[in-house]
Amino acid sequence: MRSWAEPYVPRLPGLGDLPSLHDTSTGTVHTTEVEGSRAGLYVCGITPYDATHLGHASTYLAFDTLLRAWRDAGVEVVYAQNTTDVDDPLLERAAATGVDWRTLADGQTDLFRSDMEHLAVVPPTHYVAVTEVVTDVADAVARLLDRGLAYPVPTDDSSAGDDLYFDVRRAERDTDWHLGLESRYDAETMARFFAERGGDPGRPGKRDSLDPLLWRAARDDEPSWPSVLGAGRPGWHIECTVIAQQHLDVPITVNGGGSDLVFPHHEMSTAHGTALTGRPYAAHHTHTGMIAYQGEKMSKSLGNLVKVSELVAAGRDPRAVRLALLSHHYRSDREWFDADLGDAEARLDRWRAWAATSHGGAVPVETPTPLLLALRAALGADLDTPSALLAVDAVVAGGASPSEVDVDAVQALLGIDLRA
Ligand code: ZN
Repeated sequence: MRSWAEPYVPRLPGLGDLPSLHDTSTGTVHTTEVEGSRAGLYVCGITPYDATHLGHASTYLAFDTLLRAWRDAGVEVVYAQNTTDVDDPLLERAAATGVDWRTLADGQTDLFRSDMEHLAVVPPTHYVAVTEVVTDVADAVARLLDRGLAYPVPTDDSSAGDDLYFDVRRAERDTDWHLGLESRYDAETMARFFAERGGDPGRPGKRDSLDPLLWRAARDDEPSWPSVLGAGRPGWHIECTVIAQQHLDVPITVNGGGSDLVFPHHEMSTAHGTALTGRPYAAHHTHTGMIAYQGEKMSKSLGNLVKVSELVAAGRDPRAVRLALLSHHYRSDREWFDADLGDAEARLDRWRAWAATSHGGAVPVETPTPLLLALRAALGADLDTPSALLAVDAVVAGGASPSEVDVDAVQALLGIDLRA
């Protein structure tokens, strides 16, 4: 599927170090281990029906920062992202609004692309819609069935065929994966999140309440595709596993997303991936904090979404949106206040005024400047963007004219073009 336009990322003198990053499965920050200067990044994409609120945007900005830090360290990054362009919430929204589900998904995916371009997010190498890989998902589920790790659950309509579920307990016996490997949640927390986040703990016929859906057999009023399993469509977790393993080396260097994906989504993607390859799914599991607005977590169900496209349409500078989001650490749960954007615009104005005093036409120097070193140090330490922004503030406040390298460093590492 078409991705989006690549922002300009200047080359910088010297090389940064490999960044360290928080890992959910250990609860610690450690260096991202990159094999052969090549990193594989998978970040879960959106379900395209409410693109793109600031909670989503901050997640993609966090992994954009990682990608920029990796590239600055001389790493070739292969980045894959999905879009869940067929799933229950999308179909429900389409039905509720009387819009064809494909039209809804296509329009919202276009909006997402445009939002990512406005925010200068480097696009994924492979941007893949679930509807593009239905056959591949069915093949993967068939392999799990063969291995006894999947099983059928009858549907109410016997002509529809069976739904297929992943056998969590069997996977714990037969593979190196176990519940809690990634999330470290206790049983009570898992049960709660499974029910809250798209799971169906009470579905009759399941062997374990936490067994996740792999394949949903065709229903009369739902889209479906022919496959080796009969007609149907993919479950949520297996789609990401299949897309990630098609495009990235195993184990994936970093598997990422919002912290609301830790369980069940990533835990189950990891379970499926380990079962399919016999190898660990990802070396690093990294998750971003949630953003609240008006006192509640930003979510479609509460209707308190602040959208990138609406801010841009209102004439706000997308660079300021980016700065406002980067001014908090990616892992922190925080609240968005309307005044945040004004503060970021004031900061952007100060930085641009400083950049405008740069030595025009000077030959770029080949040695890193103190500001570049400060930015590398901040981002290399678990993507500490708040400290990186403060480092620029300090240099700007110092009043000295920047070199071209300073202005390039802000653009390459923080994604803020100060020359425009
Ligand atoms: Zn995913």
